[in-house]
Amino acid sequence: MLKIQSFTFNPFQENTYILYNDQKECVIIDPGMYTASEQIQLDAFIKENQLKPIQLINTHCHIDHIFGNNYCVNKYQLELFIHKNEIPVLESGLQTAKMYGLNYDESPMATQFIDESNVIKIGNETLSIIFTPGHSPGSLSFYSQSNQFVIVGDALFFQSIGRTDLPGGDYDTLIESIQNQLMVLPNETKVYSGHGSETTIGHEKLYNPFLN
Ligand SMILES: [Zn+2]
Repeated sequence: MLKIQSFTFNPFQENTYILYNDQKECVIIDPGMYTASEQIQLDAFIKENQLKPIQLINTHCHIDHIFGNNYCVNKYQLELFIHKNEIPVLESGLQTAKMYGLNYDESPMATQFIDESNVIKIGNETLSIIFTPGHSPGSLSFYSQSNQFVIVGDALFFQSIGRTDLPGGDYDTLIESIQNQLMVLPNETKVYSGHGSETTIGHEKLYNPFLN
């Protein structure tokens, strides 16, 4: 059984996720900690639950999803996993932060590149990796069939979808990703997005105005 803990961090109200198993191994996805108190909040959860971080993953590398990368890499000695199409996005972080007038503790380059041919392993739990580009060129989603949830980054939101006007974004590609990769999952699958509240595949099939 995988448990999932979410946090909402930084001026963009981004959702950071920790997935952990009964053996207390955990994977950190999209660490968005912007302030010291947000870093403490994440670290306190890890300490209180005696978790051992084993992997750091970005669904994609927009600034709000990577503010805490450097902290996690150094604090927990983790390697960073991304899709290779996100390399230019990751590299543009400093410039983007400047544009928004925000501080940015620059993320190290990823050391591991993953795509749909790989899986995420947390003990004996396996998540499949789904390639869902469109919001960003190398956006990934992570699906746990046994736990009936999918983490989708900014591809899909509660009754909405990710913006496609940022560099490397493409509307048709995003709709195709959602329809062909996400809407084929079982209706009861819980959807954890990069912003806003959780939803389900079934709910989005019925109520998402972008998918009809
Ligand atoms: Zn994004």
